[in-house]
Amino acid sequence: MHTDEDWMKLAIAEANMGLREAGGAEVGCVIVKNGRILQTSHNEVELRNDPTAHAEMVGIRELCAKFRIPHLKGCTLYCTLQPCGMCSLACVWAGISRIVYGATRAHVNSVYFETRHADTADFVRDCFRSDLEIRSGVLEMECSSLYAKPGGVAEDKSTPAHQPTE
Ligand SMILES: [Zn+2]
Repeated sequence: MHTDEDWMKLAIAEANMGLREAGGAEVGCVIVKNGRILQTSHNEVELRNDPTAHAEMVGIRELCAKFRIPHLKGCTLYCTLQPCGMCSLACVWAGISRIVYGATRAHVNSVYFETRHADTADFVRDCFRSDLEIRSGVLEMECSSLYAKPGGVAEDKSTPAHQPTE
C-alpha cells in the first residue's frame, strides 16, 4: 500500500529529471489511480515553447491521449508544487478526484506565483466540485527545496509580480 509520501517521492524524482533536461523545469507530477501509477510528467514549457506545458497539464494531456479518454475520474494528481490557477482548473475539468501537492506558494520563491492573485487551490476547493479533495504540504520541505532560488523565498511583493525568469 503506497502512501501519499511514496508517490510524492516519485514526483520529486520527476522534478529532478525536469531540472536535468534541456528545456525542462523543476516541477514534477505523478498521476495515480487505484494504487497504480499511470503517468509521470514534468514542466516542459521551454522544451515545447508552450506556456501551458506545466507538469500537470503535460501529465493530464498525455494520460488522456494514451487511454483515449476525456476525463480522469478517480485519479489522484501529485505535484511537487502547488498547482497554479490553470492547472487547478484543468484538474477540475479532467474530473481528477484528489490533488496532493508538496510545496505551497507560501514556502517557495515568489517567482512561482503572483501573490496578488487568489489562492487558486482554495478557490477550486470552495467554488467547484464538492467531491474534489485537496491535500497540501506532503514532503513540503523536500519539495520546497526545489524552489529555493537566489533572491529569497516567499517574498511578499506588493508590486506587480514578474514573469518566470529564464
Ligand atoms: Zn500550472
